[in-house]
Amino acid sequence: MMLAGLGGLGLFAVGCTEKRTDLLAPRPEPDWPRVPTRPTTTAYDRAIALPPKPHVLTARPQSAAPVSSRRDPLNARPRSRWTRAGAVAGRVNPMNGVQRITVHHEGWHAVWFDDERRTAAHLSTIRNIHVRDRGWGDIGYHYIIDRAGVVWQGRDARYQGAHVKNNNEHNLGILVLGNFEKQVPTTQQLNVLHRSLRALTAHYRVPVRRVYTHRELNPSQCPGRHLQPRVAALRSSGALA
Ligand SMILES: [Zn+2]
Repeated sequence: MMLAGLGGLGLFAVGCTEKRTDLLAPRPEPDWPRVPTRPTTTAYDRAIALPPKPHVLTARPQSAAPVSSRRDPLNARPRSRWTRAGAVAGRVNPMNGVQRITVHHEGWHAVWFDDERRTAAHLSTIRNIHVRDRGWGDIGYHYIIDRAGVVWQGRDARYQGAHVKNNNEHNLGILVLGNFEKQVPTTQQLNVLHRSLRALTAHYRVPVRRVYTHRELNPSQCPGRHLQPRVAALRSSGALA
């Protein structure tokens, strides 16, 4: 109710937009990537650094992502690493298939940490805000990409997320940690976002044109001026095909 003034902008029911509580001054120096402990360069990384070649869908069972499937296409760090809680029964709806993907930033404090301990605590804080304060069924996003480029599992993809007001149906939500109005994503984050979007669009057979950013679906700054053009470039360059 306190946020009703934002209702006309459709912003109040999402987790990554118009919070104005950032009291931390951004670091003045450029945000150079820190020592990359993960992800390491893999054959996949080398492959995607090459000129794009036609993407061939494999015979992977897709209609897949059957509700019973527990295979995670991103091999994300499991949520057991940051919470013991599951989704709140009665507050989540079944996804019934992923047909689109939406990229977000956090839009809160700038985030400079990239270690597992603080990231885990941070995800727990976000979940508490979403569950306790907003009454949602779980953390709003399905995946979170931290500053080191590690993908963390958020809400189970069997359930709709809570990340774009009135647009959560069949919509997988990816949060890239940080406020990209105020800071830039790390190289690791961008590389892993690229890799993750490729994997997810292939796994769920989502057309590239149905990879969105938050602001493309609802009025919002999300995912911030430093990430929005990166997502647009991934889409238009053929890098996700
Ligand atoms: Zn957002």
